[in-house]
Amino acid sequence: MRGNASTSRALNRRLILNLLRNRGPISRAEMAQITGLSPAAVTFVVAELMEAALVVERETVAGTTGRRPIPVDINYEAHLALGFKLNRYSIDCVLTDLATTPLASLEAEVADTSPEGMIETVAATIAKLLGQANRREGEIMGIGVSIPGEINPSTGMCIQSPRFGWKNLPFAELLAKRVHVPVWIDDDVNAFAVAQKLFGVGRDHRNFAALAIGAGIGCSLVIKGEVYHGSHSAAGKLGHTISVPNGRLCECGRRGCLMAHAAEPYMLDEWQGRTGFAISRDEFARSIEHQDDLALSILSDCGSRIGRHLADMVNLFDPEIIVVGGEAVQFGEALLAPIRETLEEFAFFTKPELVADWVPSSWARGAAALATQNIFDFERSPSG
Ligand SMILES: [Zn+2]
Repeated sequence: MRGNASTSRALNRRLILNLLRNRGPISRAEMAQITGLSPAAVTFVVAELMEAALVVERETVAGTTGRRPIPVDINYEAHLALGFKLNRYSIDCVLTDLATTPLASLEAEVADTSPEGMIETVAATIAKLLGQANRREGEIMGIGVSIPGEINPSTGMCIQSPRFGWKNLPFAELLAKRVHVPVWIDDDVNAFAVAQKLFGVGRDHRNFAALAIGAGIGCSLVIKGEVYHGSHSAAGKLGHTISVPNGRLCECGRRGCLMAHAAEPYMLDEWQGRTGFAISRDEFARSIEHQDDLALSILSDCGSRIGRHLADMVNLFDPEIIVVGGEAVQFGEALLAPIRETLEEFAFFTKPELVADWVPSSWARGAAALATQNIFDFERSPSG
């Protein structure tokens, strides 16, 4: 990193913004005290951030004597981010503020999973989302798109996405050209981890794992506050560790991957195999609510299998905590308890807590966080 004045200014901005994100509103004097910056430097940075409408002065709390210091807070409401989570049959779309609080959301149907088809579907939703929230296009700071697969967030390239049959696709650049807004992309589980790091359970942890179970299985690692992407953007692919040699065919083309033996499609197939009739995902969820023995036994098997592989990850990376998300969190303790039990049994030394943190908008909010995180991390630059 170059040690010039603009770099140190950017560093100070990031320092102050992240302090406010973690602590909430505090006074300039407190900022100086906590960061070790001089009061003059804090005043300068805060003035710059106010100019950019990134921070704002809040009301002072009425006191009995003397002047109360003015609390400064991030101006979460003044800017917008868009988040898109690409699925095979639909796109979860959300418009958020800088705290990734949803202001408008919709689900767009996907008729065509070609890159052009996806880009057109995304572009068509932007005006609708802005209209729903009654906001202007000029307020959008960026777009985040989460894609299942191997994604290089620094180049904006989708290296591969077996679910969509994409390879070496400059997705961020293509979308940015179409919509004229900066675009960031990442793998969907990494995006979930970023949102957890910024505003979720992960906010208080430097090292944690973000496990997602749904149509697939992934486990992103946040190490020293950053998502660990690995040397080929292929880190965290817990779902593609081989669980059953020569087992079921996985969407990646190989056989026996964990996700082919424990993710949601497997659960439904297993039901059909054991009963002779097919069941929808909603019906499966209802049968769990009704404590159906077969459904519970399928979840127990899947949970144990996931927990066993998760234990290996814990032995390698020793995270402080594991946050769980993904649609399958809806199945509750019937899935989570066997994961915990197996993790307990197979983890060697530390047994991190497994905490579920999931709402249906979490995928799309994670995607939006790919855009908002760049306000807190100046080193990344968007495509477009
Ligand atoms: Zn696989």
